[in-house]
Amino acid sequence: MISHRPESLTHALKSGAVYLGVYILRRLVINAFVSKALLPAIELVERRHFLSILDWYHKCQYMPYEELKARQEEKLRQLIHYAYLNVPFYRDKFNALGLKPEDIRTIEDLSKLPITTKLEIRQNFPDRIVAENIPAGRRYLERTSGSTGTPLVFYLDKASWDYARASCLLFLQWANINPGERFVWVGGRHVKIPIKTRISYLLQRKSRIPTIDLTVQDMCTLLQRLARMKPALIEGQASIIFNLAQMAVEYGIEIRPKAIVSTTETLPSWEVVERAFHCSVFNRYGNYEMSGFLAQNCSEGHSLHVNSEICILEVVDGQGKSAEPGELGRVILTDLTNYAMPFIRYDPEDMARAGGECFCGRGFPLVSNIEGRGSEALITSQGRLITSATLGSFLFHHTHAYIDHIIKYQAEQNEPTVITFRFVPLGAVDEELKQHLYHDLRELLGEGVEINLEFVDDIPPEVSGKQLVIKSSISR
Ligand SMILES: [Zn+2]
Repeated sequence: MISHRPESLTHALKSGAVYLGVYILRRLVINAFVSKALLPAIELVERRHFLSILDWYHKCQYMPYEELKARQEEKLRQLIHYAYLNVPFYRDKFNALGLKPEDIRTIEDLSKLPITTKLEIRQNFPDRIVAENIPAGRRYLERTSGSTGTPLVFYLDKASWDYARASCLLFLQWANINPGERFVWVGGRHVKIPIKTRISYLLQRKSRIPTIDLTVQDMCTLLQRLARMKPALIEGQASIIFNLAQMAVEYGIEIRPKAIVSTTETLPSWEVVERAFHCSVFNRYGNYEMSGFLAQNCSEGHSLHVNSEICILEVVDGQGKSAEPGELGRVILTDLTNYAMPFIRYDPEDMARAGGECFCGRGFPLVSNIEGRGSEALITSQGRLITSATLGSFLFHHTHAYIDHIIKYQAEQNEPTVITFRFVPLGAVDEELKQHLYHDLRELLGEGVEINLEFVDDIPPEVSGKQLVIKSSISR
């Protein structure tokens, strides 16, 4: 009996080694097929050039910031001249201020221009804000859902697509994900995917799992499905990623991807997600009006690097001036690639903390954190803004007793002096926990505001499919 054990062990080791060898070989073959054959084929058939742009991004990301800034400003000057000549909305703005295109030469000069609001875009679309000289075939119509209260219809430039796609591939590489590795996107509603896209997804090993209307039981089933799929990357809306992380810990479901990418909203807590999935978490900032993929952190820090080749991202204070490092302000975006309908100093109604640091050596400028939609903030009676990021990091700080007791939460403020917090708890909630929660929220919000706590079975998403952490109808 004893003499058989080493043989069994040897046999098991050999089988394991063969299995591992086949697994690695299969992955290498698939990765090579996607990056060396499929992506170049897509580029050729669709007459794209995103791979050469990606090659350039690989080089330029490490250029000194001053060189990157000079490139941004060259593109800015071209865009400003172009918009003045071809877009009545911007030409009138310049004329009203007595400005000429030559007056906007640097990023600092941008503050001479007023901010472009969503309302202005709605009021001037399409006749006065779409470039007069661009043929209709070069642009395509897009719309946002209006989950922030302002639905928007706009045109994107087909030429922007290559820059966005290259930026997406670059950001995935920062997360150590190569083309061809299994990639699952979670979130949103059911949408009909065209057959061509479905084939492309299949070849690239991409899957999309809608999560709207999922019950707690459905979420467990989804986690088990993810465990079977063994994706290298799970990407999705921050609130969905966060809920999945909470439930994976609670139900002991082991999923070990190489990376998690959180998008669309603000991740309430990085630590909870890292603990649940045992991997690095990346936070990406995109914007539908800008073809997406604007900024992401690398593996060396939490601050987000802005891809300065495609946009200028400013963080401004209440007066429209550059915010100080660490200061919370509004995000203002200028798209350097869209010539069909230029977005110059556009306010997407997002908040961010200016500055940031990273020691990876990349020259791309930094922003400390995107703190969610401008509409996603509570206001205390002292006038302080509590963003979803602030609320999340407060609620899920490791010293708080309730860190492992909450699946979902939401704060709603419809009156200046009343805030209602809803929590979906994990199991029963005892009185002591409620008291803790109330005490800590009081400390965060200060006096002068009524705090209501509700414990509910679920918090349904908005009609748009977004799971809002903060709902506010208070005007600032
Ligand atoms: Zn970095």
